[in-house]
Amino acid sequence: MEYLSTRGGSEPVSSAVAIKTGLAPDGGLFVPEFLPEIDLTEAAAAAAQGYRELAGLILRPFLSDYSDGELGGVIEKAYGGNFDTPEIAPVHLTGEKMGFLELWHGPTCAFKDLALQALPHLLKTAVAKTGDRSEIVILVATSGDTGKAALEGFRDLPGTRVIVFFPDQGVSKIQERQMTTQEGANTHVVAVEGDFDKAQAGVKRLFADEELKTAMHRQGMAFSSANSINWGRLVPQIVYYFWSWFEGREKGLFAEGEEVNIVVPTGNFGNILAAYYAKQMGLPVHRLVCASNKNNVLTDFINTGFYDRRRQLYRTISPSMDILVSSNLERLLFELVDRDPAAVRGFMGRLQEEGCYQLGAEAHARLQEEFWGGFGNDEEAMATIGDVYEKYGYLIDTHTAVGVKVCRDYREETGDQRPAIIAATASPFKFTRSVVQAVMGEESCRGKDDFALLEALSAFTGEEIPAALRGLREKPVRHRLKTSPEGMKEVTGQILGIN
Ligand SMILES: *Cc1c(COP(=O)(O)O)cnc(C)c1O
Repeated sequence: MEYLSTRGGSEPVSSAVAIKTGLAPDGGLFVPEFLPEIDLTEAAAAAAQGYRELAGLILRPFLSDYSDGELGGVIEKAYGGNFDTPEIAPVHLTGEKMGFLELWHGPTCAFKDLALQALPHLLKTAVAKTGDRSEIVILVATSGDTGKAALEGFRDLPGTRVIVFFPDQGVSKIQERQMTTQEGANTHVVAVEGDFDKAQAGVKRLFADEELKTAMHRQGMAFSSANSINWGRLVPQIVYYFWSWFEGREKGLFAEGEEVNIVVPTGNFGNILAAYYAKQMGLPVHRLVCASNKNNVLTDFINTGFYDRRRQLYRTISPSMDILVSSNLERLLFELVDRDPAAVRGFMGRLQEEGCYQLGAEAHARLQEEFWGGFGNDEEAMATIGDVYEKYGYLIDTHTAVGVKVCRDYREETGDQRPAIIAATASPFKFTRSVVQAVMGEESCRGKDDFALLEALSAFTGEEIPAALRGLREKPVRHRLKTSPEGMKEVTGQILGIN
């Protein structure tokens, strides 16, 4: 399988090169030259043996330049005892024909683990395969979930180092403590003064700094990125949609021959794009429901075909969806215009220069055939958490709550009552304050810090605090570096020993 750039200006490359490079040289995103058909009977047999077997079957055609031994090794390291259940991504049925695909059983309690437990091994194998001997230095700017997931993914992986920059005013207490207590000899965590944009702009400057690059090269090091546009982060996500369908069928979520809808709380459009790819590969899915929070750029886009990022960014209680430019949407655009790179270049150019673009009528019709978009604000998400807990005794986090709210809206507006698989993207314990407030009332939060709230939520619901969050308060802080955005280069030099 070869990979093309969505903008058409790069030679086709192998999957190893696509994963090692991240972004295509012409600024586009790498996409597979075709989407392989999956035989459902064969996939069912693999799924019956377990998540890893299914992962092998789905990933095989995409990573055809990896040997069976290499791919098997990646999967074995990625999906094992690092998850707190052998099912890896169990499906929990409530009423209303909803099945929650729990993507939060990994080491950081959010769905990014499903990709970031695999990517480091895919990347390391890719570097070795392409004859590159460099030590890989991963730089990450994070608004919370990605940084911790990258640290856990790369920790103590020989030949790699990871440096995470987080905004000192932009992450929750729990998220901060998850990062500053990170173990592993190759992990580095730096607080950057200011908000997420400052940290992200700083990382972009580091990637573009020729002086730094040359100095690193001399010492046998090279930068790489673990962000969500990397094909190695997207491809592992396709697996769990197939998995959820087999799990849902086994648990009676839908009848033989019945189609389902898939609902995904969406930010950067990576997770829902993986569901779209699964559908193109033969998964019997009717519609993909794209759920946004108050930052509803995608809802408007699906409804009107007009993408317009010229608006205010709101901070919400589902911060991982607070995004105005969904980078992975470029891969969908490529499919909607029959893989015409000139059209994609046109959209992306207009987005860059004017902040907006308009889809043609045909592409818009196709978009609407596959996707339905809706959104929910903070109050609606809170009410949904309370309602789902009251009705079904099931706790959901603030992101998943937006999914449920939009799923209900979808059914009401379209009359389509098909069963739904809803991606549950984070553990409710990760966004404790909002969840406690929603199920126990505002009073219960007063005067309590985030750690006390974990205990309170566990005592109230009888559910165990996930191991990854338990004991966080007592864990020793290992990372205390702090810098201004201007100081990020110097700190990076110190960490890498190249001053
Ligand atoms: C990252 C994230 C999302 C958004 O996923 P995308 O792939 O960016 O659309 C949703 N929920 C949680 C909890 C996340 O961490």
